[in-house]
Amino acid sequence: MDEGRLQHLTTIKSVPKALIDELLISAEEMKKLVRSKGGDNRLQHKVLALAFYEPSTRTNCSFQAAMLRLGGSILAINEETSSVKKGESLEDTIITLACYTDAIILRHPMKGSATAAASLSSKPIINAGDGVGEHPTQALLDLFTIKTEMGYIGTTPGAPPMVVTLLGDLLNGRTVHSLVRVLAQFSGIRLILVSPPELALPNDIIEELKSLGTSLSWQSLEDAIPSTDVLYVTRIQKERFSNKAEYDAVSGSYIVNTELMKNAKSKMIVMHPLPRLQEISTDFDTDPRAAYFRQMENGMYLRMALLDYFLGKK
Ligand code: ASP
Repeated sequence: MDEGRLQHLTTIKSVPKALIDELLISAEEMKKLVRSKGGDNRLQHKVLALAFYEPSTRTNCSFQAAMLRLGGSILAINEETSSVKKGESLEDTIITLACYTDAIILRHPMKGSATAAASLSSKPIINAGDGVGEHPTQALLDLFTIKTEMGYIGTTPGAPPMVVTLLGDLLNGRTVHSLVRVLAQFSGIRLILVSPPELALPNDIIEELKSLGTSLSWQSLEDAIPSTDVLYVTRIQKERFSNKAEYDAVSGSYIVNTELMKNAKSKMIVMHPLPRLQEISTDFDTDPRAAYFRQMENGMYLRMALLDYFLGKK
């Protein structure tokens, strides 16, 4: 076995820059493949397990579509229809799925669950969101979107540093936790953090970014908008609040609309991992800078690249 190969994808921190570059190239090839032929059969006779213990539309469907487009099969379980309902542990469920399938996509409300699962699985575990922890495959598709839309990530000759503004629930938003960590691997990135004070990025992540020398600043949305190249909007993660009053106090505290975006650059993009609630008004959807639906489509290409990496012929 190639020592440098990843066995699991539980945190974005384990993905070296060279592999990121390889996956971005592969995702571009997958996009061309789907657009020209719909897919191929390179994962024929491979079976992918999807174990989702939290709701999902895009991650779940794009992984399923990715597997099917590469000729593989899928086996999906959730907490309602499997023995989890009878009280079976995550550990036993993972051991079971590892017997029947070739890789396991896991979404679970507990931070650290993917790492725990990886420690007992003989098959690759891919973290599809572990509570308020991470969402590494989203970070990779986000990078793919930045590269596709902007033409570069971080630096390009003649251009100033790329300003990425992260807006919303930076405390609980796992997509942000993975994205900032992966952006820290690129030079020429300036991060601006915009959130209600109670939903600021966790301190341990800030310390991690500082130790990597990442440029960080805190601004209001209005101040950040004119210099922003990538505006990454997130929803307030209602399901992570222990009481409704705390959620109500911050809900609706920011909104991206056509009025606000008049002050933004003409060449910049607005991204969102989705689902969107009211934080981006639908009247902005037709603006060419609204990249979130293209970002969502990119998820399938990037996940095809990941499945090829983990399950294809090495
Ligand atoms: N779909 C993303 C996630 O699962 C973002 C969100 O739910 O707000 O983390």
